[in-house]
Amino acid sequence: MLRTTIVGSLPKPSWLAPTGVLRAPWRLQGEELREAQDDAVRLALREQEDAGIDIVCDGEQRRRHYIWGFLAGLTGTETDKLGEKRARDGRYAESTPVARIVGEVTRPVPVFLDALRFARAHTTRPLKVTLPGPMTIVDTVLDEHYRCDEVSLAMRFAELLNAEARELAAAGADVIQFDEPCFNVYLDKVKAWGIEALERAMAGVGARKAVHICYGYGTPSVLAWKNKNADWGHYGVTLPLLAESSVDQVSVECAASGVDVSVLASLRGKEIMLGVIDVGTDEVESPERVAQRIRAALPHVAPERLLPCTDCGLMPRTRAAAAGKMRSLALGAAIVRRELGG
Ligand code: ZN
Repeated sequence: MLRTTIVGSLPKPSWLAPTGVLRAPWRLQGEELREAQDDAVRLALREQEDAGIDIVCDGEQRRRHYIWGFLAGLTGTETDKLGEKRARDGRYAESTPVARIVGEVTRPVPVFLDALRFARAHTTRPLKVTLPGPMTIVDTVLDEHYRCDEVSLAMRFAELLNAEARELAAAGADVIQFDEPCFNVYLDKVKAWGIEALERAMAGVGARKAVHICYGYGTPSVLAWKNKNADWGHYGVTLPLLAESSVDQVSVECAASGVDVSVLASLRGKEIMLGVIDVGTDEVESPERVAQRIRAALPHVAPERLLPCTDCGLMPRTRAAAAGKMRSLALGAAIVRRELGG
């Protein structure tokens, strides 16, 4: 019980890309870049194992951005010459640089299969792969090709994600996680078609199926919104809907938000990745602080279904802070495990 995991991204080593910068450019190219990414993945796995994290991932060391990494592997997408769009309903910024759809979007070859095989060969622990969810992709691209409604576009991406997820699972991924921060933004759309698109992406995937729903990275514009936000009722709408879905695990941000953890009770039967690590600061919380956050959820979730986790990706943090936070995460879970006699 209380197996630990992280949402996905870790800070990149400074020799790979500028640390802590959203969408940072690579410092190397071609074969040198691939070799450096291999090394960074080895380090990311090692740092998670050293910290005591149970379910590990590659720290998203091969992607500049959690959405573009998948898009860049498809035809018809442009992730270098960007467009501008009012994404996330303008919550964090009036305009955001986004990838463009400029032609027929297809997936001629698997996007992350080689990456998965490399990570699988370098750890014996359960392995997670993260993919952007269909609704969040649609909100984060400028469609200059199809010019269709967003539901059709989401279903198109869901099919591509499904093919990718099935292959990753077959090649040894234990958990496939879809990142859907937009599920905390467009509540009506979640009900109307968001869950359906997610189901289509998850269908027939032979691994644990997870969805990550957060209030964004720990970056200045997001933190500014969080500081003035008073309504934390979004999970109250989305979690009961997800309880009826075929998803196995739901990742929720609870450490740095104002979310009332009693809402977790609505996820009856699902595993919950409980955010107990604040990703908006380099200050490392103590293991005891982490343990308090885990204990707060226990009246609402059985410990067998509770996976202590980070709120979101650790990408914006320093490497030292990320390592410290992962250690506190594992130690905090161990404290509560002992208390529960596990
Ligand atoms: Zn997140």
